[in-house]
Amino acid sequence: MPTIVTLIDLSDAGAVENTAAGLLAAASLLGSPVAVVTVAAGAGADIAAELGKIGADTVYLVESAGVNGVFAPQTEALAAAAATYSPAAILVSGTAAGREIAGRTAVRLGAGLIVDAVGVRLDDGVIVAEHSIFGGAYNVDSTVQGGLAVVTVRPGAIDARASAVTPTVTRATVTADASRYATIDSVEVTEATSTRPELRDATTVVSGGRGLGSKENFALVEQLADALGAAVGASRAAVDAGYVVQTAQVGQTGVTVSPQLYIALGISGAIQHRAGMQTAKTIVAINKDADAPIFEVADFGIVGDVFTVVPQLITALRERTT
Ligand code: FAD
Repeated sequence: MPTIVTLIDLSDAGAVENTAAGLLAAASLLGSPVAVVTVAAGAGADIAAELGKIGADTVYLVESAGVNGVFAPQTEALAAAAATYSPAAILVSGTAAGREIAGRTAVRLGAGLIVDAVGVRLDDGVIVAEHSIFGGAYNVDSTVQGGLAVVTVRPGAIDARASAVTPTVTRATVTADASRYATIDSVEVTEATSTRPELRDATTVVSGGRGLGSKENFALVEQLADALGAAVGASRAAVDAGYVVQTAQVGQTGVTVSPQLYIALGISGAIQHRAGMQTAKTIVAINKDADAPIFEVADFGIVGDVFTVVPQLITALRERTT
């Protein structure tokens, strides 16, 4: 059985991010998962136990004290894991940081890079990555011929979960040639002003489009998001009109999301928007135009005015929780 290395994302507080379960599940479909985690000296025993519960056969705790440089600890940890385990593939979350680390690791190891997989499988011993492209209109496969594959996996795209195991835990220490990496001279910490979940890996996303009509009306999107504990997204038209910040944009030139539930309010469903949300597990659309293309991809559709439908929805949700 091939060994599959995964890079586990940690929060700033050192907790395992929720991308880990999907990555380990994807790895278990291909072979024996090795979870690589960068930790402080002596730390990580609790993390190893947690990763066993979500399917890590082996946990490789990598200490990198004194390793400086942008993404140097993670890249060096993956290079060390590749030398130790000779994996058939390295899976990394397709977050902004993960994409950067994957690219660096592929160059470092002379490996092939496959980006934005929404699924993986083994075909006659060949690792195949599955992609959803052109707004979900086509599914395509990609492989790396004759070598190691570094694959970024879209957060939230893998529904499967691996069985719990008792992992083998190995520790390693890495060093780095600082000249390989950019260094950080100073950091300005920006406090998050929102208590809502992060858009990219939220399990529920409520997005608003030009149909909301104004920045003031866009508050309706936020109210529904808060009633559901969801992240707020938007179409580019809503962003361009100044209803909401650009970081909320979902689509080809915005964020790609794969939540369990995606609710589109007053969004027509242009292909560039669908490119960023079509792999959501359940799509609900509310639009007053019955011919809006968003209904082609929606699992549930309401033809109606958002200003009539959404307040009723919020009231019903609040009644259920009181
Ligand atoms: P519209 O297309 O104007 O649709 C508004 C919808 O609201 C309509 O369907 C209307 O029926 C409905 N509506 C109006 N009033 C109400 C009401 N009261 N109640 C219910 N429904 C109502 N777009 C993205 O979203 N993300 C991207 O990343 C992106 N990247 C792009 C990249 C390129 C290179 C290009 C060319 C375009 C890109 N676009 C992107 C833009 C995209 O083509 C569309 O223009 C955009 O998605 C439209 O946004 P919208 O659906 O909010 O607006």
